[in-house]
Amino acid sequence: MSRFWSAVVHGLTPYVPGEQPKLADLVKLNTNEHPYGPSPRALEAIRAATDDSLRLYPDPNADALKAALAQRYGVQANQVFVGNGSDEVLAHAFMALLHHERPLWFPDITYSFYPVYCQLYGIAHRAVPLADDFALRAEDYLPRGAERAGAIVFANPNAPTGRLLALADVERIVAANPDAVVLVDEAYIDFGGQSAVPLVQRYPNLLVVHTFSKSRALAGLRVGYAIGQAPLIEGLERVKNSFNSYPLDRLALAGALASVQDEAHFQESCRKVIATRTALVERLGALGFEVLPSAANFIFARHPEHDAAQLAAALRERAIIVRHFKQPRIAQFLRITIGTNAQCERLVGALGEILAG
Ligand SMILES: *Cc1c(COP(=O)(O)O)cnc(C)c1O
Repeated sequence: MSRFWSAVVHGLTPYVPGEQPKLADLVKLNTNEHPYGPSPRALEAIRAATDDSLRLYPDPNADALKAALAQRYGVQANQVFVGNGSDEVLAHAFMALLHHERPLWFPDITYSFYPVYCQLYGIAHRAVPLADDFALRAEDYLPRGAERAGAIVFANPNAPTGRLLALADVERIVAANPDAVVLVDEAYIDFGGQSAVPLVQRYPNLLVVHTFSKSRALAGLRVGYAIGQAPLIEGLERVKNSFNSYPLDRLALAGALASVQDEAHFQESCRKVIATRTALVERLGALGFEVLPSAANFIFARHPEHDAAQLAAALRERAIIVRHFKQPRIAQFLRITIGTNAQCERLVGALGEILAG
């Protein structure tokens, strides 16, 4: 606390990211990073871009990257926005597109950055409870008489549950709210879901946000993007150009471009994570865990006879870090990132010991 802080700063409760411990030989399964590295072509491009040209500013419009993303997704370049991680893309979207007189609707259990942006920008919101099984019910987001959302945001697959909403249900929500922007945060869509991007041409109120941090194994590079019709993208550009003209540096632009161009590496590394997830769900089930159906690179699991916080602490003693949220409804769950097969073996071995213990 400081008397020099503005009233806004006094009122903030910042987002708390998963920790990045500086310990060697840690099995780090707490922040949904990809267990296999980024495309070697991306690393090569970053090395090649590391030269004297760093004295120059990067392309403020990221034209080459936007063109590559537009081609990858079958949209126009003016339907793509890029930012410094999807967290920044989301922040700009909250300010540019989700701030209206009527409240913003999002699930009670979802990415915990959403309420933080609401607080930062003074956006009224309504937490819409997920079903008891943590499914998002499309019908809860349909207008009821005069009661309708100013805008809607949800993650699909949802975080931290990993549950996927079928594309037909996403479309139902978008179609039923033609006067409200619906932002679908698809940070984990590449691990088994069907993206809403193909709906963008038909729905002017749909914005889909993606990140290079999860499925492209480039969390350290900080690149995210949004796809939507040009007027939505223009709204984001207006905020971006009122905040920071150069959110992506030269190395990030080069690495992200090469990553998009390496489709084979992307497909293969996602496939490996999905295969490991299937095996891990089975192993945890055999240990008595209940695991929510996951279409993400993490699973959300609870054990009917063991306290989640104690399990997380016991894993930590064995140098395995998972994420635990002290939050109503989910305090008995652990969110476990899908690691390599070897890391998942260590996790299962440790849990077996702890449960026997
Ligand atoms: C990880 C994550 C993000 C943020 O990704 P960055 O691009 O690394 O900022 C956004 N939304 C959800 C749901 C996430 O899990």
